[in-house]
Amino acid sequence: MISIPNILAAQKEYFASQKTKEVRFRIDLLKALKAEIQRNEEAIYDALKKDFKKSEFETFLSEFGLVVSELNLAIKNLKKWSKPQRVKSSILTFPSSDYIYKEPYGNVLIIAPWNYPFLLALSPLIMAIAAGNTVVLKPSELTQNTSKLLTKIISTVFPKEIAISIEGDTETATQLLAQKWDYIFFTGSVSVGKIVAKAAVKHLTPVTLELGGKSPCIIDGSVDLKLTARRLAWGKFLNGGQTCIAPDYVIVHSKIKSDFIEVLKAEIIKMYGSKPKTSPDFPRIINHKNFKRLTELLKNESVIFGGETDEKTLCISPTIVDNPSLESHIMNEEIFGPILPVLSYHSESDIEEVILNQPKPLAFYIFSKHNSFVEKTLHTYSFGGGVVNDTLVHFGNQNLPFGGVGNSGMGQYHGKFGFDTFSHQKSVIKRGTWFDPSLRYPPYKNKLNLVKKLFKLFG
Ligand code: NAD
Repeated sequence: MISIPNILAAQKEYFASQKTKEVRFRIDLLKALKAEIQRNEEAIYDALKKDFKKSEFETFLSEFGLVVSELNLAIKNLKKWSKPQRVKSSILTFPSSDYIYKEPYGNVLIIAPWNYPFLLALSPLIMAIAAGNTVVLKPSELTQNTSKLLTKIISTVFPKEIAISIEGDTETATQLLAQKWDYIFFTGSVSVGKIVAKAAVKHLTPVTLELGGKSPCIIDGSVDLKLTARRLAWGKFLNGGQTCIAPDYVIVHSKIKSDFIEVLKAEIIKMYGSKPKTSPDFPRIINHKNFKRLTELLKNESVIFGGETDEKTLCISPTIVDNPSLESHIMNEEIFGPILPVLSYHSESDIEEVILNQPKPLAFYIFSKHNSFVEKTLHTYSFGGGVVNDTLVHFGNQNLPFGGVGNSGMGQYHGKFGFDTFSHQKSVIKRGTWFDPSLRYPPYKNKLNLVKKLFKLFG
């Protein structure tokens, strides 16, 4: 039985030894992690298949490949990232050289969700370790096979005083949150995010909250129907629709709505066949609770495509719902499943009415050939991150920060943004000693005018 306070005490002691501050040591840990992940490649595919019938292709594309890329980036750049960064000095502190030191926070807690159980556990862990922290990871209890494998991989690579995976449910998470951490990184739902924030505030612990929400997809009348339908269907139904940045619903221009829906149906059939339940590429709903929640959302809605549900296999086929009311459940909670409501608009104020009534979303998608419409829309709405003329792909660029705003979260990561998230930026001025004018020292008599002049010139 793992004692959480004992583990944290051991990690605190190890961090205090200064060992994790050695960049070479961190690079070696990351290299060892990469090798262990590569050794377990087949086991990772198997675990995700067992957990929710995720295909090997999707596991490679959306989990394994991204984790290895993040490791490669960190291994390659860590020396550069961790060097104190020289910044321009102020003439007012002349003579000096000024720096930002990247300092690890210390002991980090990472709580991960189930929907990309490998990626969303390891991606923050990699950057927390890269930045020189120790880590306790709590993977999701809903993906038992992947979580067990994560525990195995992490325990093979890391001594437990550097990193450990502690499996468990809400009770374990609650015990973890009762401890005093130096940083908490949480990915999950808005409601649990609030619990995490409340626990963090007790110790004034900084947090990153990677949450969810209803991410809209606007399609204007100018688009190539087939390309748009294909890119939308891919982003919506990947991972069985259980993606935090999946387009939650579509608002399509009324003049192309019916044509668009026909093309969309054809594209979905091309991807998953006419019996998606038998497709090897279509994942399952994670559990009965979510299956029930999703089938409830379909009640009293106009299902115009799909809608086949099978509780035994936890399969809900890709489904299109026509024009739900803005007051409906389906338009007031994150769907997080393979159900796509399609609304239509005549004027831009119709779009506003839908989007401005929702909390700020994590993602935002616009399909249009009209640059002025695209720019206006990008400037009008607040969202975590978005894509023009495609879906999801912003997640894959390590040069873009990933995170939410408002209800969809706070903080950001991916690539160097992740390293920075897990580093305190410590400002340091190193002053020269060969020059020390008496201007700033009391007595101040007759000095104010000169100081004012200097501020005017250099301030
Ligand atoms: P969840 O909030 O139910 O669970 C996430 C984690 O929190 C799990 O490890 C769980 O054990 C733990 N947890 C549950 N109850 C807790 C409590 N009371 N106190 C402390 N910890 C608790 O989320 P989920 O169902 O695993 O994931 C789905 C949600 O996550 C969706 O809302 C989705 O949009 C969001 N999500 C966001 C991102 C992102 O990057 N922004 C990525 C994936 C998922």
